Parts: sequence; C-alpha cells; structure tokens
Amino acid sequence: MRNTTIPTHCPYCALQCGMNLTPVDGGSVAVSERADFPVNRGALCGKGRTAPQVLAPGARLTSPLVRAADGALVPAGWDEALDRIAGNLERTRAEYGADALGVFGGGGLTNEKAYALGKFARVVLGTSQIDYNGRFCMSSAAAAGTRAFGLDRGLPFPLEDVPRTGCVILVGSNPAETMPPSLRYFTELRDNGGTLIVVDPRRTRTAELADLHLAPRPGTDLALALGMLHLVVAEGRVDEAYVEERTSGWEEARAAAMAHWPEHVERITGVSVPELREAVRLFCAPEAAMVLTARGPEQQAKGTDTVGAWINLCLATGRAGRPRSGYGCLTGQGNGQGGREHGQKADQLPGYRRLTDPAARRHVAEVWGVDPDSLPGPGRSAYELLDALGTDVRSLLVMGSNPVVSAPRAAHVEGRLRSLDFLAVCDVVLSETAELADVVLPVTQWAEETGTTTNLEGRVLLRRRAITPPDGVRGDLEVLHGLAGRLGVEKGFPVDPEEVFEELRRASAGGPADYSGIDYRRLAREDGVFWPCPAPPADDGTPPRPGTPAPPADDGTPPRPGTPAPPADDETTARPGTPPRPADQETAPHPGTPRLFLDRFATDDGRARFVPVAHRPSAEEPDDAYPVLLTTGRVVAQYQSGAQTRRVAELNAAAPGPFVQLHPRLAARLGAAEGDPLAVVSRRGRAVAPARITPGIRPDTVFMPFHWPGEGRANTLTNPALDPVSRMPEFKVCAVRVEVVRGA
Ligand code: SF4
Repeated sequence: MRNTTIPTHCPYCALQCGMNLTPVDGGSVAVSERADFPVNRGALCGKGRTAPQVLAPGARLTSPLVRAADGALVPAGWDEALDRIAGNLERTRAEYGADALGVFGGGGLTNEKAYALGKFARVVLGTSQIDYNGRFCMSSAAAAGTRAFGLDRGLPFPLEDVPRTGCVILVGSNPAETMPPSLRYFTELRDNGGTLIVVDPRRTRTAELADLHLAPRPGTDLALALGMLHLVVAEGRVDEAYVEERTSGWEEARAAAMAHWPEHVERITGVSVPELREAVRLFCAPEAAMVLTARGPEQQAKGTDTVGAWINLCLATGRAGRPRSGYGCLTGQGNGQGGREHGQKADQLPGYRRLTDPAARRHVAEVWGVDPDSLPGPGRSAYELLDALGTDVRSLLVMGSNPVVSAPRAAHVEGRLRSLDFLAVCDVVLSETAELADVVLPVTQWAEETGTTTNLEGRVLLRRRAITPPDGVRGDLEVLHGLAGRLGVEKGFPVDPEEVFEELRRASAGGPADYSGIDYRRLAREDGVFWPCPAPPADDGTPPRPGTPAPPADDGTPPRPGTPAPPADDETTARPGTPPRPADQETAPHPGTPRLFLDRFATDDGRARFVPVAHRPSAEEPDDAYPVLLTTGRVVAQYQSGAQTRRVAELNAAAPGPFVQLHPRLAARLGAAEGDPLAVVSRRGRAVAPARITPGIRPDTVFMPFHWPGEGRANTLTNPALDPVSRMPEFKVCAVRVEVVRGA
C-alpha cells in the first residue's frame, strides 16, 4: 500500500468538487477533505464521499462481455470483444454506408475522451451520426447564450462572484439537492445582505432558503420572465445607457415584452401580479444582480426562447457583462461543460467550433491530418439519433451513457436499441443500456485514470490517477485506439491522456473555447485554469491569432481596447528605458479568463443581442384525458440515470426508489394516502411509484425523480417534443393522468 495522498476531483456533477484520495488495501481509495480547492473548500455531498464504493470489483464490470448464441452475455477476452465490434461496424458500413453507424457519448467523459470520440466518429467511421447525452442537459442554455452573447460558457464568472452580487434569481434549479456544497454561495449571498429568488413549481430545499419563491405552472417560466420585463419597462427600470452602448435589438424585444401584460402573465403562470412586482423590485434594487438557470427552463420544447427571455431581462437591466452581474447556466453533468466543447456534439468540432464553418473544418482537419472535405457534416441530435436506431442507424457505439433510463420516451428508445443490428457499450457498470448490448467493454473510472474536466465555471481541472485499475479493465482511450487500429487507422489515437490533451490544445487553438495555453503541468500547479486561455505567440513575436483575447487584469477585468499590456512579472520585466520587445510581453502565459464579456461580448460587433420571444403553450397541455402536469428532476442521493449511485448501499438507503410527489388537494381528489402506489399515465406509457404527499408542490402538478429503471421509470412518460433551436426534448412538462393502483 502506498502512503500517498493524491488531490483530484469527484466523478459526478459539474461542481467537480476537489477531494483527496489515499490508496488503501484491497485496491480502492479513501476520500478525505481537500480544503484548499476553492470551489467546495472541502465540503462533499454523500455521492462524492461514497464514490470509491463503485471501484469495488463486486460493484463494477471487470471483464468484457459478449452476447452468446443462447442470448446470454458471457465473459470474453479483449481481443475477441474488440474484433467483434470492429467486424460488425465494418459490416454495417459496407452494407448501409457510414451514416448507418451511430456514436452516443456522455457529458461525464473527460475532455480527452470526448475529443477522441468525436475524432473517432468522423475520421475512423466517417459518420455524421454522433451526439451525446449532454444534449439532454443544457443545450437550450448553450443555444440561447450563443445567440445573445456570441459564446456559451455555463457561468461566465466564477461562483465566488455569487455572494458578492445583490440579488440572484435561480430559475428551475435546486442546488440544495443537485450540488449541495454550492449552497454556501447562496447562503453567503443572503448573509451579505443580498436576496435570493427561486423560481420552481415545487417548494424545494433551495426554495426554502429564498427570500421570494415563485411557483409558476410548469412550462410557463418564459411568460414569467416576459411579465417581469414588462414591469421593468412600465416602472422605468430599463438601464437605457447600457442598452444603448452594449446591446442591439432592444426595440423588438421590448415590444414582445409589452404584449405580455402582468395580469395575462398571472393567468398563464399562476404567479400573482404582486409577486411579479416584488420580484422586479428585488432584482432591480441592487447595483448588481444575476439570473442563473438550470434544467427547469432549459428542458422544454421552447427552452432556448425561455432562457432567452431571462437573458433579455438581464440585458434590459444592465445585468450582463458587468462585475458581479450576469446570466449563467448551472450545468449538471461532471464534464457537462467540457463535454460540449470538444467535438462529440452533432454539430461541433473541437474548440467549440461550428462543423459547418469552412475555416474551422480546415483548421481541425489539418490537426487531424485529413482532407477537410472528408469530414462529415452535422448529424442528428441525441433524441433524433436514438429514434433512428434500427432504421437509418443500424449499429451503435455508446460510451458513458445510459439512455434506457435517461432518454425521453424511454420505453420507445429501449425498443429502438433492441432493434439495432449491433450495439456496443463501454461502461463502468452493467447499466440498463449495457444489458441490451452485443458487446460490453468494462472501462476505467475516475480514480484509476488521469484526464481533464471543465467544471460549470469553465475552470479546466486535472483529475489524477490514484490507483491501478483491476485486471480486465481498460481505458476508453485504449478502446478507441484498439478499434481504430482494427478499422485501418493505425495512428492518431494515443492511449496516453496527456498526449491526447496536447492534440486537443492544437485543435482548440483560436476557437471560442481555446485551451491552447493550458497543459497538464500548469493544471497540476494552478488547480484549474479558466478558458479561453490561448497559448502565448511564438518566440518570433508573431502576434496572437485574430480573436485571441488579451490577458485580463488581476481582478479578471480584461483590458479596454487601447490599454497597454500589463508588465510581465519581475523576472521578465524590461529594465527602465529599454523598449519592450513584443516577444518579452507576449511569451508570458495567458492567465485564463475567469470573467467573460466585461468589455465586449463575443459577437461580431461586441454587442449582446436581444432576441424577441413570446410565450407559447407547452407541446402537451392538460386535457380531460390527461388532466395533470408531470415534471421530473433529481434527488440528492442519486446521480443522473443512477447507474453508479444505485450500486452504493448508503445512497440506496437514503433514496431507495422512485416516488410521485403530489399536493394534498390532488391526493384527496384521487383518494390517495401517503405511500399508496400511484399509476402515472401519459400518451407514451405508464409508471408506478408510491405517493409522497406534500403541500410543497402545485396542486395541478406531480413530480417524479428520473434515476430508476423498471416500472417506476419517469422517462417512460416524458415527451420527446424538441426545441427547434437546441433540439432539447421537453423533459420538464407533459400531461398525465394519475390513478391509485388498488389491490397492489
Ligand atoms: Fe461530487 Fe457534485 Fe457532490 Fe461535489 S456536489 S461531491 S462534485 S456529486
């Protein structure tokens, strides 16, 4: 046993809490507090503390599995498993063409894996059909952020700014359960005299802490934001100078908001006009304020416009691109931010470049050593890809995702997966999706591998290997290397994550998410670097590429145009009187960019864009047959599809299964008592779970957490209606009927 403590990060959510690992007898690790990491300052939730339990041989896969003639999954050697995958992919491609091959990635994959997976799909398989489960996570916020600001980075400022602002509106976010250590930022905000407004149809643990809790009908927070903007205009609270100087498109957005009278908004949302007025007063009173969204407004078929409405509110009041102010998205998955930047998304190339941009294609193709014209175009979005399985897409490789539990209309998706000619899954555990596979590859986990992630603040972090993986387990990068070689591509898929990261740096250079100034040594030293972080120019004094941001000042404020570059540190400062050589100034490493947009937005003209939006009904509204609204979400003791956390005894004891949360009035109407089995039925299927009765939910709404498979699977019910811009499904609202299951 080594007596070493290794600093690293939690394998689960986007907070990426710092923790220390100490190898212990039996090949596992002990988790201890790492108080010096600024994001969580040592605090961990139960998921992080118990993460080592998934490393145990009994909890995880330790041998490849292949489907035998009798239909059973049986252990096999790595060569046999990889040969079988490569052979089936070749056969599908020969028979149906490259686009009959699908790849489905995950927001938990490290940056290196996400990068290599996108390259593998486009260079080795030649398919356009790659997307990932992050599409289900925050794609609406990403689309709205890009539309308004020219660039999406979940939070354009560090979390440490939250307690320093005057008011935060948390929209459809419940950090008390999804990322508990982050709650201190909101309690500190209130301790400092700031106010917290929570918008959520449920009185969540986070809403309990709020100064004001607004509980709109699910699917109506777009109207809520418009109603607030209407009042901002009517009460003369628009920051006219800011709007004039830093934005475009205000008149159209203003007209759209003025069409949403507060009384009309009250009828749509159920939030009263006095509550709306109070929210506007609290938001506009302080000098600085923020709006933070999460899955509530984002997982809707109008998610992009809903987030856009909240961004418009920020812009009209001068609360974006200013110190301690702004709009941000609290991304969910462990590498939800980095996972969307490096090319596993259907429409993007590494560096957050658009796949349809000829210059981006040329740049990435050059790094990859291929002809730009050989790169496929954009493919189907995640749900559309899953819906095409067995028809247009005949064989699928899944890496780090469990769509049988996490996809909308999950029974249908499960059927599509079963109809495939061939399915291969790389995972840590035998997930519900892996159970359907023809070949399952057991892969290494967080504590057994090195790699980078990018947390919800855009802070690039280094996860370190602490222990040796068990025999029989290989890394995802080794899988891609092995498959690429078998499919005739011998080079370009190294198994060393640092080597992959070095290539990723080059591929991202000059792009919106520029990592070229970041390397492993720096990450180890600095405990995280915020992108964009361009590499210094070459020693010959070649100026930075166009679009490369100048290094910000110490407080993160970027220099204004025309401001001389700050002096280099002591070792490189030129002697007085010596004219500075450009190279002297420019070879200092870029410090990273904790705060974006303080001087200009990332649009062509530097202005943020208002986009006029209007309320529209959800894709499915209640009717006589399905009179109740269903919304879905998370509980503190489980993570996403639960594939890992359902294998941890302590977490299962805390959250043993699904439930249906409902209001006492609805329960009385149904004749339901606490714990009664309730059947929740939508147009897509039926789920059964015990009743949990609480006044902390709207009487017209039921809530189910989505972490479980089987008869309590919430996603059996959810609606795959897609947002037209982001292609996000409408997880957060659909129409259901609820019945007590008698005699169960
Ligand atoms: Fe891990 Fe998230 Fe819990 Fe932190 S809050 S310990 S990152 S699951």
